Amino acid sequence: MGSPKDEAAQNPFSVKATEIPESFHSFETGGPFQKCLVCGIDLVKSGMPYFIEKAFRKYPGYKAFDITYEFAMCFKCAENLRKELSIESQERMKQYMESKIDFEKRRHSMSGLEPGKSLEPWLDHCLVSGEPLQDQNEYVLYGYFQGNNMMVSDFPYAIGPQAMDELTDLLSNKTLGEMDDFMGQYFTGPPEVNELFKPRRPVLL
Ligand SMILES: [Zn+2]
Repeated sequence: MGSPKDEAAQNPFSVKATEIPESFHSFETGGPFQKCLVCGIDLVKSGMPYFIEKAFRKYPGYKAFDITYEFAMCFKCAENLRKELSIESQERMKQYMESKIDFEKRRHSMSGLEPGKSLEPWLDHCLVSGEPLQDQNEYVLYGYFQGNNMMVSDFPYAIGPQAMDELTDLLSNKTLGEMDDFMGQYFTGPPEVNELFKPRRPVLL
């Protein structure tokens, strides 16, 4: 038997499984995500782990957040996408996250999560800056799942606009181009929306 620390080191996703919270349901269907955005694999039947990314924005004059884009992506497609990113970009993002966040501490406090207990306290602030998201004009939610369960470990978390900007600044032009191609392939936003905000890229950390 290794210590919890050893187990966490061997398996970064050594985890607690919990029901998928509604905040990670599809805005489009109102239910859980069914398919991988890229390969279309059935997320539940395949048993393949998968990620969900949901981006929100608050338009000037409005108090509520609107969904900007959302998708589920199977582990395999996420790995393939990550392989296309430049090594420099990946390394810089990793260093940035490690310098800003004590994942071990966070993992430890998350391991005390009771089944059925709200994940809200983990998702109402930016993972990097700690700022409450309610005061921001945009944020992104990330989660890791398998079948009908959310896997609680380093995920889930939310990232606010300042950290999104800082992460984007770390990416090489090549990586930015690849991410824009990816977004262009799967999502199209109305032009007036794009003028209001900077283009956003999937982070998939
Ligand atoms: Zn896939």
